[in-house]
Amino acid sequence: MAIKVCKFGGTSMADGNVIKSVKNIIDGDMDRRFIIVSAPGKRYSGDIKVTDLLYDSYNALVSGGDFKKAFAAVKARYVSIVKELNLNFDINSVLEETEGRIIKERSEDFTASRGEYLCARIVAGVLNAKFIDAENVIFFDENGALNGEKSYKAVAEAVKDAPRAVFPGFYGVDGRGADGKVKTFSRGGSDISGAIVARAVHASMYENWTDVSGFLACDPRIVDSPRRIKSISYKELRELSYMGANVLHSESIFPVRRANIPINIKNTFRPEDEGTLILPTSRYTPCGNIVTGVAGKKNFTVIFIEKSLMNSEVGFIADVLNVLKKEGVPVEHIPSGIDTMSLVVESECLQGEKLNRVIEEIKQSVEPDVVRVIENIALIATVGHGMSSSVGTSSRLFSAIAAANINVKMIDQGSSEINIIVGVSNNDYEKCIKAIYREFFV
Ligand code: ADP
Ligand code: ASP
Ligand code: MG
Repeated sequence: MAIKVCKFGGTSMADGNVIKSVKNIIDGDMDRRFIIVSAPGKRYSGDIKVTDLLYDSYNALVSGGDFKKAFAAVKARYVSIVKELNLNFDINSVLEETEGRIIKERSEDFTASRGEYLCARIVAGVLNAKFIDAENVIFFDENGALNGEKSYKAVAEAVKDAPRAVFPGFYGVDGRGADGKVKTFSRGGSDISGAIVARAVHASMYENWTDVSGFLACDPRIVDSPRRIKSISYKELRELSYMGANVLHSESIFPVRRANIPINIKNTFRPEDEGTLILPTSRYTPCGNIVTGVAGKKNFTVIFIEKSLMNSEVGFIADVLNVLKKEGVPVEHIPSGIDTMSLVVESECLQGEKLNRVIEEIKQSVEPDVVRVIENIALIATVGHGMSSSVGTSSRLFSAIAAANINVKMIDQGSSEINIIVGVSNNDYEKCIKAIYREFFV
């Protein structure tokens, strides 16, 4: 029998009524056997996600604030969910026990993980399914990276006799054996948990249920009702999600890609919609458009370096990168010319005195002619397999940006040939995405 693994995101868990629709979705297909849930998300615009309430609670706990009051907001969400579901589940005792453990552990990751933990306990009750704690089956190694092999084995073992099981997403346990501590993935990480379970049980499909009818050609908060992408390759997805299309966490494709498990993005609120299929490059049908999608992120800093004959100075780039390595600063992109190179870094990695230190050390290390810092840059990626074979794509892209009166401060065409990245001022971010969308999709 085919096995489908289904991950339901925060909005799909937001209140008891949505959880009832989730139950209908699961009951509607016998193959939907393994479920991963996020913590309850926003019920309406302006509402606060449970995960954010938990981070607030932790901050109150460690900074001498009113932890009880902050955690009361979390409790209220779960009490009302259980009530709406009319579920015979002693939520008050579970919340009390959870509160005690949060105070005892005093760990940010542990506190944040309780959103998913509590939600999965409730959903397991609703579905009458086995609850499997991620604490026992998802493992990180000593460096904080996922220990895939160990996790796949443990998940497979845990589901052996379970016709249906529910897992909390977002967390696992770090690599210190019996003394391991709960550790979370980065925000949005339940998508990764779902992919791990899909790989572990040899799923035929990883369904990712959210609040939009698939992966859209760009962020629907910027362009009104963008076109849906019917089918997209893992490669394109990786580029778009890494560059900000956070409908799916950018690291969630790794476990499934190795096993060729397709991902289907589906809408909990419109379950009959087809959604988007994410497939290996060899199996997917191109969308027929030159560009598949556009995505971007704000708040980068570009460090521009110029030195005559830079290209003939052996080790120049290595010396520059060593400065960043020493300062522990990750570099996103390195566009370069004959006598110039730029380092594109997320601004939050250069806070405080770090930027000045990096600049000083670069000056000492490679004695450049010019070092210039450009701040408040947004990066926008235009992605598609069709781009490399279609003459004139970049000229259309840059003409569209110029026609919108936007100044391009940086260009990086990467080596993957399916991606052109431009850097523009943060203030031009939305305008630039709209201009690119208009050029290639309208
Ligand atoms: P979940 O809680 O289900 O994991 P997320 O909030 O993480 O949901 O992701 C879904 C949201 O991603 C959508 O509501 C949408 O606003 C946003 N989004 C950003 N870019 C895109 C895109 N290209 N396609 C679809 N949704 C996108
Ligand atoms: N609840 C976590 C977050 O808000 C994880 C997730 O939703 O995937 O980031
Ligand atoms: Mg998400």
